[in-house]
Amino acid sequence: MTPDRRDQAVREAVAQGLLGAEAEPVIALLDIAGLRAGAASLRAAFEQVTDAPVLHAFAVKAAPLVGVLRLLGSEGLGAEVASPGELALAQAAGIPAERIVLDSPAKTPGELRTALDLGIAVNADNAQELDRIEAMSGAAGPGGAAGVAVPPAPHAPASTLGLRVNAQIGAGTIGALSTATATSKFGVGLRDEAARDWVVRTFLDRPWLTRLHTHSGSQGLPLELMAAGVRTVYQLAEEINAAAGRQQVETLDIGGGLPVNFTSDEEIPGFADYARVLEREVPGLFDGRYGLVTEFGRALTAKHGLVLARVEYAKRTGGRPIALTHAGAQVATRTVYAPGEWPVRIAAYDAEGHPRMGPDVTQDIAGPACFAGDLLAEARGLPLLEQGDVVAALDTGAYYFTSHYAYNSLVRPAVYGFLAPGGDGDVEFRLVRDAQTMAEIVAESGGAHPDALL
Ligand SMILES: *Cc1c(COP(=O)(O)O)cnc(C)c1O
Repeated sequence: MTPDRRDQAVREAVAQGLLGAEAEPVIALLDIAGLRAGAASLRAAFEQVTDAPVLHAFAVKAAPLVGVLRLLGSEGLGAEVASPGELALAQAAGIPAERIVLDSPAKTPGELRTALDLGIAVNADNAQELDRIEAMSGAAGPGGAAGVAVPPAPHAPASTLGLRVNAQIGAGTIGALSTATATSKFGVGLRDEAARDWVVRTFLDRPWLTRLHTHSGSQGLPLELMAAGVRTVYQLAEEINAAAGRQQVETLDIGGGLPVNFTSDEEIPGFADYARVLEREVPGLFDGRYGLVTEFGRALTAKHGLVLARVEYAKRTGGRPIALTHAGAQVATRTVYAPGEWPVRIAAYDAEGHPRMGPDVTQDIAGPACFAGDLLAEARGLPLLEQGDVVAALDTGAYYFTSHYAYNSLVRPAVYGFLAPGGDGDVEFRLVRDAQTMAEIVAESGGAHPDALL
């Protein structure tokens, strides 16, 4: 989102009364054109390096909004889901089953059955899950008799079935998001004693396994390290196929994890940068023998979203100016609990939504939640904020307002998509999600059972 378009959207959101003293105290905005451009750049990045079929499955957890999934679906993307809720959202958005991939680490029997019934792809996490899938599909496995390719019954679309492996390439700069450490909870750790041989044997024993999956994420990993994880999985696929004497592994799911630049408006690295690194580090990946799946989340939406919050009060305590706003832990959970790892850029606007000018003053931007650490930014240099001003938390289109945290029974804010024509044209807002109502807050807090404990 360029600063111009952002400023125009903020000004118009205030002018049109989406945010204000007598309106909502906090809303979120998504740049519709930016989301489309991001999806197009992802497609183009891979089209430039390969003719192989590529399914780009958006990681739903990054922005679980039906409207976002629908928009990305209209750009040809699919959905990577990791819970029954995320699957329901993908279906509500009209994403076809053949473009959905199920990845969660703890799938229940019911979830697996649903996935197999729908024919959506499943990446199993571990040996027990493979046993479960096999038992569910009859002793011979989902493909029919072992080793014999049986066409699926017309009523039973065949799920593509894969195994998630962990290349154990090491951690990035953010421990909680590093999925490829030696002890990460995800997938089969390939460097563990005898694990690699076990994987090869498992594929030979289960001819219905046709996909390998890895996701070396996320945020804080250099591209070369991500590519090293993909290379490990590619080499494993080659080893399995050589042992099988046929191309048993048909598709490679390389996950997501492209990091996002949270320090400026520049969208670096781009998808094309990553595709070029992959082309250099894993040339065979793109030679057409393997179909590919990607699962990008953050990099597709983060730069295209922001949170807007009113400054309810501006005060000074212990010599420190503090702006008390309506955006805190409920919309910026990671930033509030791990500010060192997830600093967020803040832009200051006046009460009319015009950029606030003036010398930087060190101040705290606080949220509305009732604990001391509820700060969007601590000791940040910004033009001094006043009561009634508006702050924008930038680059928050992934894992922020879409990953609501229900502390203090704060409502999920409304989300609007916007179309900003640039210049003096009118900005058009489209409601993507309503703000939660008090009735919904009461309902999700057991309002239907008030006497339960009497
Ligand atoms: C979270 C996740 C992704 C997306 O990661 P990003 O860093 O948002 O791109 C992809 N695949 C899996 C399995 C995930 O858990």
